[in-house]
Amino acid sequence: MEIVIVGAGPIGCYIAQLLLNLGIKARIMEEHQEVGMPVKCAGIVGRQVFEDTSFRISKSSIINQIDGALFFYQGDNFRIRREGVAYVIDREKFDKELSEGLEIEYERRLLAIEQRGKGYGLKTSKGEINAEIVIGADGARSRVRRFMRSNPEGVKEKNKHHKHQEDELKEGFKEGIKYYTGWQYRLKLAENFPSPHLVRVYLEENIPFFFWIIPESEEIIRVGVIAKEGRSQLNRFLAEEKIRGEIIDKLAGIIPLGMVPKIGANNLALVGDAACHIKPLTGGGIYYGLKAAEILVGCIRDNSLAEYERRWKRKYRREIRLGLGARKIYERLNKQGVKDIFYLFKENANFIEEVANFENHSLILREVFKKPRILIRASQVLGKNIGRVIGKN
Ligand SMILES: Cc1cc2nc3c(=O)[nH]c(=O)nc-3n(C[C@H](O)[C@H](O)[C@H](O)COP(=O)(O)OP(=O)(O)OC[C@H]3O[C@@H](n4cnc5c(N)ncnc54)[C@H](O)[C@@H]3O)c2cc1C
Repeated sequence: MEIVIVGAGPIGCYIAQLLLNLGIKARIMEEHQEVGMPVKCAGIVGRQVFEDTSFRISKSSIINQIDGALFFYQGDNFRIRREGVAYVIDREKFDKELSEGLEIEYERRLLAIEQRGKGYGLKTSKGEINAEIVIGADGARSRVRRFMRSNPEGVKEKNKHHKHQEDELKEGFKEGIKYYTGWQYRLKLAENFPSPHLVRVYLEENIPFFFWIIPESEEIIRVGVIAKEGRSQLNRFLAEEKIRGEIIDKLAGIIPLGMVPKIGANNLALVGDAACHIKPLTGGGIYYGLKAAEILVGCIRDNSLAEYERRWKRKYRREIRLGLGARKIYERLNKQGVKDIFYLFKENANFIEEVANFENHSLILREVFKKPRILIRASQVLGKNIGRVIGKN
């Protein structure tokens, strides 16, 4: 069985490792000349990435432990403490370690896919290759995803599920996939950072996510934002917060959010960013991508690749839908709405501290339903903003 994985990001490499464990050697191609570069990631992951994955991921890429977060809004703040909730990683090292022992075909770029019988012909920058199964782990602008949307078999499948798909898009993002751009500076600070084990989250109206400060140590921090005109927003933020230091690294990258209508059909599968396996509230994609990879490889092991989409949906569709819904609401809030949300969180900081899960955001919603007092307060906040939330459709 010739399996070709397109993309040697963390998810493509993880799939290849899981397959190797089953004795299956997949071909893995990567357009760059090495794994892990260029880095396009803030590099914070929940501890689950190291503790709840079926293939043990080495911890040697960990730079710092995170014990909670400080949330800010217009000069006010509150703290959520959770010891060891997350880790700051060296993302290049993380990816490189995942690629250890794999034979990756570097500088081979997928250009086009063509159906050949039950398999596929892949046109690449280094000639054509054949595959029985093609796995698209090729990131935000996935070519495999584009092929799945446009090929006739895919369209047939699409029409079959047309009604269902429409429902999905109605509940999720109208456009299907929405692309956001994230920016980050790595700074060597002029003065020591006061809380090197707490991330800082700054809410602001008109910023669809938030500004973040992720400390690597007392001396080095990562400051970023996901927003339109992110670079100028970031410069403004640094000036306003009087954060002074030398910029020692810069990055920018795309985050695709939404519900991809088809992630598996006719021996083609999408995983990770290619499939929008990303937490809609924070843009973190590593953990979801790894978990989707495990489901996919389980299906290949069971000789039931056609089951992949159904198994993934059973476990993660609800989570992503809820996140997309919450994101849609958050993005429509005005200044007062963002303020209301901040104070709703602040008033319930102890509750959040108790139930929040770094990689599974819907858990908190489920817990809210068990607390009538918080539920009523949340409904009041949403009720006050309902005009904006439903008015812009
Ligand atoms: C600014 C920013 C900050 C982020 N911060 C975090 C964070 O803190 N925590 C977190 O969990 N996630 C974060 N993410 C998301 C995270 O980086 C992604 O979810 C993760 O990289 C997805 O892994 P992947 O393997 O699916 O895709 P990628 O990492 O994008 O890997 C895809 C690979 O495919 C290759 N490729 C693409 N097209 C082709 C082709 N045609 N032919 C051959 N190879 C190809 C690419 O070169 C790349 O190596 C962030 C993203 C951004 C943009």
